Amino acid sequence: MSEHHPEKRYEGKAKILYSTADPDVLLTYFKDDATAFNAQKKGTIQGKGEMNCTIAAALLQWLETQGIPTHFIEQTKADEMLVKAVKILPVEVVVRNIAAGSLCKQTGLAQGTVLPQPLVEFYLKDDDLGDPLLTRDRLMLLQIVTAEQLARLQDYALRINGLMQGFFARCQITLVDFKIEFGTDKTGTILLADEISPDTCRLWDQTETDPNLRVMDKDRFRQDLGNIENAYQTVQARVLAQVQQLQSLA
Ligand code: ADP
Ligand code: MG
Repeated sequence: MSEHHPEKRYEGKAKILYSTADPDVLLTYFKDDATAFNAQKKGTIQGKGEMNCTIAAALLQWLETQGIPTHFIEQTKADEMLVKAVKILPVEVVVRNIAAGSLCKQTGLAQGTVLPQPLVEFYLKDDDLGDPLLTRDRLMLLQIVTAEQLARLQDYALRINGLMQGFFARCQITLVDFKIEFGTDKTGTILLADEISPDTCRLWDQTETDPNLRVMDKDRFRQDLGNIENAYQTVQARVLAQVQQLQSLA
């Protein structure tokens, strides 16, 4: 049997993908590197790789049990997981429950405004272009998705939001917004891919009222709020406790 030498397939800002002996499986390594504002701001968050990998593994695995097809296979190390190789759709799907970040900047809505219903947005996954907001017609124009795939993404996004809102509420965390990515496997099936972590969600601690103290996500890094490691650690502890509680009930 010839030994497989893992080959670096792609290095992104937060993760590195390696090939495995199985061409349909990739090994994802989560880095401590942190970037913001399209990589204009760079830094490290001690232990982030392990925390994000562990949080993402727990959430993806739980979503899978709730009927969401994901790329997750297995967490093999604190900072490594095996995933199904997919062709990533070059669109970042953002779901918002409360106004924050670019939505406030672009619309003038006050930060913290509770949206009457979840807002699903599509951004072009293209760092050189600055990940611009897409209209549905532009998505179709660029032939990034078919009309049928677009309907499916919208449906998945809302279902994932509902599930995650409930999950985080039981962790005493408010899910403000999040970004997800999807890909297609070799049969064309759409899978939820990439990660769900405090790097990709806005999470507010319901046990804190202070608008800075309650932030448990990458906004602590973006806005230099300090105590980033603690915040991620608290998210990890609450997510793992919630997963255990749900398992003991099952
Ligand atoms: P980026 O700098 O683009 O945000 P990351 O470091 O977050 O990159 O992740 C590395 C890359 O891996 C991303 O481009 C992401 O779309 C891609 N990716 C995530 N899951 C999978 C998968 N299952 N198969 C193939 N590529 C994936
Ligand atoms: Mg990324």
